[in-house]
Amino acid sequence: MSHSRVDFGDVLSMTGTELSELLHEEGAPRFRGRQLFEWLWVHQIQSYAEISVWPIPLRRKMDQQHPFRRAHLIRQQAAPDGTKKLLLGLSDEQRVETVVLPHRYGDSVCISSQVGCAMGCKFCASGLRGRVRQLTAGEMMDQVVVANRLNADRVRHIDLMGIGEPLDNLAAVLRFLQLAHDPAGLNFSYRHVTVSTSGLVPAIQRLADSGLPVTLAVSLHAPTDALRLSLMPVNRAYPLQQLIPMCRYYVTKTGRRVTFEYLLLSHVNDGEEQAHQLGRLIKGFPNHVNLIPWNPVAEHPFQPSPKERVRRFQSIVQEYGISCTIRRELGQEIDAACGQLRLREEEPVSP
Ligand code: SF4
Repeated sequence: MSHSRVDFGDVLSMTGTELSELLHEEGAPRFRGRQLFEWLWVHQIQSYAEISVWPIPLRRKMDQQHPFRRAHLIRQQAAPDGTKKLLLGLSDEQRVETVVLPHRYGDSVCISSQVGCAMGCKFCASGLRGRVRQLTAGEMMDQVVVANRLNADRVRHIDLMGIGEPLDNLAAVLRFLQLAHDPAGLNFSYRHVTVSTSGLVPAIQRLADSGLPVTLAVSLHAPTDALRLSLMPVNRAYPLQQLIPMCRYYVTKTGRRVTFEYLLLSHVNDGEEQAHQLGRLIKGFPNHVNLIPWNPVAEHPFQPSPKERVRRFQSIVQEYGISCTIRRELGQEIDAACGQLRLREEEPVSP
């Protein structure tokens, strides 16, 4: 048994090459592995029984030896602006949320990378229950598949910005990126993928060194260590004097500019002085600031910034020569925003 089978377990998380080895071990020709990859990701089969080009004994053998169960849609909720929030059930009955955001140039799907999250950001409902488990690469793929199917194959961008800290699950995320990119399957360009992080500095370095030209989105949310630490416990381990140089390193290694996500919380981090501090902190290398209007969450006391404060903050940041935009408030009715995905009713609670 190969290491990848030990580490990732299920056929939904294997590359075409690994599937070829698996089929070979089961006594079938290696080309059956590439066939299986295509049937999983192009035909999106639910069971081996559907692989009509395979002999029936092989279908039965694989079903006995390597059963798989795909993520399935439990329910979906649509907002008037076209945003859809999907609740998916996994093979162990855990649940994840996936959001589809409509754009003129093709929709984007915002997928979760973990069940729950360990990072404990103070403004985030998803972190309240802690991390329950990692998602596999196959479970990330299935979120894209289900979203694409429900959206008439219009999904063009993948954002790893849903529930969980993707870089706390880096091995599975790298594997997912490889699977999603495979031209024999979903065939996503790396340039159409964004990986977000709350700022896990060593993992950013590993992602940079992987050489995959994905966009990195860093949830910054504060321009000083003291303020950031009050919002994001991760800042204790990885303060700004480590994080920002690592973002520069990412740009140098990948040639991609870094996006800084900045959630605007009224009278917490949205003042003029903080806009100047942000400008001074990140000026001088290719990046972009995405200001995110706060969606109120019942469990948290923060208030949205008034529009005039948002615009003033934006114009100060722009004075530093930094590209800075305000995120369209998509999906507010269904709480769909990075770090604010949440389930109101039905999540099984971690044991
Ligand atoms: S904002 Fe993201 S990293 Fe922070 S607790 Fe929520 S899901 Fe985790």
